[in-house]
Amino acid sequence: MKWLLRKCTRCGAYTLRRDACPRCGGPVKVPHPPRFSPEDKYLKYRYMMKKLAGEIPEDC
Ligand SMILES: [Zn+2]
Repeated sequence: MKWLLRKCTRCGAYTLRRDACPRCGGPVKVPHPPRFSPEDKYLKYRYMMKKLAGEIPEDC
């Protein structure tokens, strides 16, 4: 998925421009980097499976 919206790091304005903020000319970046990568999800799932299988104690 490609996220088009950027946020200015200087004034906080949202923009679709990728190079610079149209308002103040400051640098822009993607406002919300993904918190969990697919790998993390997979690890969490594997952990859950292990827990269900009884390999990890409940109070771990
Ligand atoms: Zn700006």
